[in-house]
Parts: sequence; C-alpha cells; structure tokens
Amino acid sequence: MIALDDFVRTAHIAYFTMEIALRPEIHTYSGGLGVLAGDTARTCADLDLPVAFVTLISRAGYLRQTIDAEGRQVEHPDPWRPEDWVTPLGAMVMLEIEGRAVWVRAWLYNQHNGTDFQVPVILLDTDVPENDPRDREITHYLYGGEQSYRLKQEMVLGIGGTRILRALGFDIHTFHMNEGHAAFLSLELLRNYELVSRKGITGEIAYDVGRVRNMCIFTTHTPVHAGFDRFPYPMVEEILGTTYFALDQLKLLAGDDSLNMTRLALNLSGYVNGVAKRHAETSRNMFPGYRVHAITNGVHAPTWVSPSFARLYDKYVPDWRHEPELLIWADKAPDREVWEAHQTSKRALIAEIEKASGVKMDPEIPLLGFARRMTGYKRADLMFQDLERLQRIYQKHPFQLVLAGKAHPRDGSGKKIIEDIHQHLHWLSDKIPVAYLPNYDTDVAAFLVSGCDVWLNTPLPPLEASGTSGMKAAINGLLNLSVLDGWWYEACIEGTTGWAIGDGSEDTSHDQDSADLYEKLEKVVLPLYYGDRDRWIWMMKQTVSKIGSYYNSHRMMRRYAADAYIR
Ligand SMILES: *Cc1c(COP(=O)(O)O)cnc(C)c1O
Repeated sequence: MIALDDFVRTAHIAYFTMEIALRPEIHTYSGGLGVLAGDTARTCADLDLPVAFVTLISRAGYLRQTIDAEGRQVEHPDPWRPEDWVTPLGAMVMLEIEGRAVWVRAWLYNQHNGTDFQVPVILLDTDVPENDPRDREITHYLYGGEQSYRLKQEMVLGIGGTRILRALGFDIHTFHMNEGHAAFLSLELLRNYELVSRKGITGEIAYDVGRVRNMCIFTTHTPVHAGFDRFPYPMVEEILGTTYFALDQLKLLAGDDSLNMTRLALNLSGYVNGVAKRHAETSRNMFPGYRVHAITNGVHAPTWVSPSFARLYDKYVPDWRHEPELLIWADKAPDREVWEAHQTSKRALIAEIEKASGVKMDPEIPLLGFARRMTGYKRADLMFQDLERLQRIYQKHPFQLVLAGKAHPRDGSGKKIIEDIHQHLHWLSDKIPVAYLPNYDTDVAAFLVSGCDVWLNTPLPPLEASGTSGMKAAINGLLNLSVLDGWWYEACIEGTTGWAIGDGSEDTSHDQDSADLYEKLEKVVLPLYYGDRDRWIWMMKQTVSKIGSYYNSHRMMRRYAADAYIR
C-alpha cells in the first residue's frame, strides 16, 4: 500500500470528472464518459503519469436495470459501500451552498494494475453528520435529481475538489476538466489568484485569467449546444451566492443569459480539445474564435482485450500491454489462431446470453451486436425500420442479434426506444435468434465487445462525439459496421477495417440510413462471412493492427501528456 504522502509529493496534474468506472463493484459511472475516465486512470497508472483523479462518491450509484414482461425498463437503486473499497482520508473542507456551510470529506482509491505504479482517485463525499440533511445527499445520486441538484454537485466537484486537493497538501499545476461538469474549478482558481494582476479578459477583472488559463485543460464531449449544462442566473445567485464571484464578471466568462459550463471552461482553459477529429471540427464551428484541438479517445487495451486474445497477443506481440502501439504487428498471428481466439470469446458471450435471456445462439452463425445508452440520437431503432426485410435477409444469410443499453431515468424517449425494441424483438423472436441483455455495464460490455462478430453503431451525425465501444470491439478483432461519425469517421477504411453506413452527411434520413444498413448487411457483410472466411479473418487482423494500435488510451494519454500537460 502506498501512502497518500507519496501521491501528494508526486502528482501535479489533477483530472476532474463527474463519473469514473474504476471497477464493476464501484458504481460511480453511468456510461462512456465514466468508462473513458476509468481507462484514463488505468493508463496513467501503467505509464506512471503524475495524475490525481477527483470525482464524486456517488454512493447511491446510477441505476440497475431490469426489463419487465412488457419490455419496459425498470429502474432499481444501485448503491455501493465505500467502506468496502476505498479508504477515508482525514481532511475536510467547507464550501457555501444556498447560504449553508457544506462540509466535504474525501476517500482514496488506489488505482494500480499490478505494476509498481499507481495513481490516486479522490472521491468527494458530503454525507457527514456536520451537514444539513439536505446537503448530505448532494454526492449520492449520479446524474440524479433536478437542475439545482446538479448545480450543487458541480460546485462540490469543482470548488470542493480543488479545496480538498490543497487541504491534502497536493501541489497541482495542471487541472484537466473531463467535460464541462468540472468547470467551477477554474473559478476557484481565479479566486485564488485574485488581484495578483490587473490584466484580465477586460480591464475590470481583477483576476489573473492568464495564469488560470495556463493551468487549465478542457476536454469537451458534447457536439450540440443543447447538451451543455446551463444554469439560470437566479438559481446561481441562490445556490452559489453573490459573494463567491461577482455576477457581472461571471457573465463575462460563462455567458449572458445563463451560466454555461462549457463556455466557462472554454474561456478559462489554455488548451481545449474535442474527442475525435470530426468532433473537434464540429466544436470549432460551434465556438468560432476558440482554438479546439483534437485528441481522439482510446480504450485501455489490457482492460478490454478478452482472455483468449490476450493470450494471442502475449505470444505474437509480447509487450502489447505496456505499449499497445505494438498491436500494429498483430497481423503476424496465424489466421487459424486468430479465428480460434475469436470463437473462444464468442462462445463465452453465447453462454452469457443464454444465462441472462435463455436464448441459445450458435457460434457458427454471425452475431451482430449493438449496445449503448438508449437515447434518441443513437437511433437503436434504425435496424428495426423494416422487420420483414430483416427476415428476408436472414432467410438468405442467417445471422443473430444481441442488444443492450440503459436509458437515463428522465429520458422518456430513450425508455420508449427500449420498449419499442422489445416489441420488435418479440415479433422477430420465432424467426431470428435475438436477445436483449439487461443492465448494460462494464461486465456486460466486456463480453459483448469481444464475443460478437460485427459491432453496429447508428448515430445521427454529428452527434456521436467519439464513441468508444467500437474501439473495444476492434481491439478484439470485431468488424465495425457504423455510421461515419465520431471516431469511425477517421478510422473506417471500407472493406479493410470495417464498413460505413451512409456517407456521414448531416442531412441524412432515418429511412436512407436504415436502407443502407440493410443493403450492406445483405450484399457485403453476411456474404463475406459465409463466402470468404480468409478475407474475413484478414479484415479482423487489419482491424486489430490498424485500429488497436492507435485507438488505445496509451496513445491518447501520451498525446495529452505531450500536447496538453506539457505546454
Ligand atoms: C464503452 C462503454 C460505453 C461507451 O460506448 P459508446 O460506444 O460510446 O456508446 C458505454 N457504456 C459502457 C458500459 C461501456 O463499457
């Protein structure tokens, strides 16, 4: 066990994130953003990068999903016990919320991957007896409650997190905001450097804006204005108060009509990036005048590679865990061994599907997978536009289909999608082997992204900022069949690393894209699986060597280190 003192001495970069997927038993994540943060922490530990992570304790978790007989999502609480996994730290800090003193304490999680290196994850907690009962719940529910609840959480994260790092003795010189949720940290830093200099963004601001910008990095994940966290100023005045930061000056930084967390982060960060090349381009158009770099996301290879592929890589590219870039040589592996590794993962998934749903699938029939947050723009219903066509395709070239995904409890249309999909699956169930796995989480994801043959993604461009499940799939030799959006826009080489649906244009239609999906399945993907297995395996190897070697989080963190952390 490493002592906190060692971390305090070595970590000079802080990574703030609302959610983080550390391990399946710790329910401090809901989806892609948290999985990315977890992969980032695992990579920092592998690479011995001097980073401390800051997040909320989220004792009540996000949600555990079951599906009822009508195909509707049922939401259960999904708590976890910090006592079992993390260590309480002595320090407490205070911030004022709604005029009340709110105390924040911290817990420590040691992220280590069996090497000598580890990184600290600080989890913030307001559930202390000193606090008003209303405030004890601020850090309970991940993405729960009203807008005012979210504002309080973001204050605890940004302001409380910055204060606790200082109270613990950290000397942080670089603050990385993973999405706008953490942007209050930049205000807190401005307050620390109040009156140090009179040169702000306007003559009146007596804060050292330049110094704070030099310290801050902002990674945006949201390609639409509607996706940004915004708080009306009357609410801000009530909750943040008027003495913390003068309102007229806050408006200069965060927008006139409402406090826009993305704008705040943009204005106070010296390095801003989108999470894929196309997303950075979209962001530049949304925010003319700001320099937005691109650092495309990546996934933590040792976490996401299945046991059978890990054995294969150990044999042919021995140092792949520390240097996944070496997967560029993975095509050295003989075809027969690649296929055997794949079939092993596929049989493991098929066993899980049977356990969870009772549906028996066949390892010799191609298995298509689709799993993601169920929400409008991801268009999970795209493949169900024409059920009879799907059935006709099946009669020519049999295939199987597995899906999974949760909808946010307040996303009515997302929940409707789950219900509709279940009706489609019900209709299809005596014609095509289909299954929907409940409670999509990192455990379920690990089986899916290694055990399917084809990984589907059908977002409405340009709304998928990056997407990472397709990278996890590729690193296990699955072939992606996806709309040209997010990371796939840059990674797709048609017929080599996978296939495109549509041409990526923004003015596409549901009907057009679903027709294109059916066309590709019927004429290209399924015939190749049945007709030219050698070519299929060649594509699997191309996918691993071209995508696995680049879309991994080691490459991503080396980029953050070289481009963003060292400036
Ligand atoms: C990887 C992952 C995601 C993100 O995948 P997308 O392709 O971005 O949708 C979401 N949820 C879980 C559980 C994951 O493992």
